[in-house]
Amino acid sequence: MESLDTLQMLISGFGPAGAEGEISRIIQKLAAPWADEITTDVMGNLICRKRGNGPRLMLSAHMDTLGLVVTHIEDSGYANAAVLGKCSPALLLHRPVKFQNGARAVVTAPEGTEADKLKPSDLLLDLGVSSKAAAEKLVKIGDAAVWDAPLYRAGNKVMGPYLDNRLSCLVLLKTMKRLASPQNDLSFVFTVQEEVGNRGAKTAAWAVDPDYAITVDLTPADDAAGAKHQGSSICGAGAAVKILDDAVICDPAVVQRLLQTAKDNGIPVQRDVLAKGGTDAGVIHAARGGVWTGGIGIPCRYLHTPTELVDTGDIIAAADLLAAFANTRLEG
Ligand SMILES: [Zn+2]
Repeated sequence: MESLDTLQMLISGFGPAGAEGEISRIIQKLAAPWADEITTDVMGNLICRKRGNGPRLMLSAHMDTLGLVVTHIEDSGYANAAVLGKCSPALLLHRPVKFQNGARAVVTAPEGTEADKLKPSDLLLDLGVSSKAAAEKLVKIGDAAVWDAPLYRAGNKVMGPYLDNRLSCLVLLKTMKRLASPQNDLSFVFTVQEEVGNRGAKTAAWAVDPDYAITVDLTPADDAAGAKHQGSSICGAGAAVKILDDAVICDPAVVQRLLQTAKDNGIPVQRDVLAKGGTDAGVIHAARGGVWTGGIGIPCRYLHTPTELVDTGDIIAAADLLAAFANTRLEG
């Protein structure tokens, strides 16, 4: 998979929610040969235009990630940390993290704290120093750290950190490259601060003012061991066409069009229903007077952990479906 190198580049780009500057610059560079115009807004959303004569179609993927933020530095040199976004603190224990300035730490907790009783407020960062003064030379209050984990391929699966949502950023970039003369007026939007409440997508959708929108994101796979069947999509069964989650009920005509496009092009798809959780589609569909919105998901096991797992066939299906949908003329 030639895209693995690009994915590695996207995953390595620093970009916890609220500090997406570095990843934004990486994506800008990758998008430059394919976009007619690239702009950023006040929030930091990156908007790549590809002009066409049809209706306005916004294709979005969030580029921010989860992380940890330094809240306090103890005399001992340990730093207290708060979780940026939603993830279980137990899954972070004894994992390495890195800061944008290169400082590294391991996530720890007070001795004797049982993993299943661990609260986000228990998390500490061991920066490898033994005094407050030494720690303050490495990090400041408010600095964010991200998971420092490898990306690798095993069989037909890809495993690594931040596949949510750098994989969808890759899907958007691939689509941008494939659409030479678009049938619709396209805005590829790489949003900020999704993990802390879809904040970037709100302002981006208002500014872009699209007729239609498709959000690409990862969706929790329902085939992890002991899955509780609160979702419907599984790894390896194709692109997940969102029907609903707890933030959006997708426009039935857009859902139908995605399913029909998949059928016409022989792209494997599955219907995606999610009882809990949502994506940027939740705020985009309610922007201004409303936007005809759909979503394409890539099923992911171990979502919001430092080792997320997806099927390579599902990535290809998602990219094929997004390109095919964007390339059919929508009704204005
Ligand atoms: Zn996501």
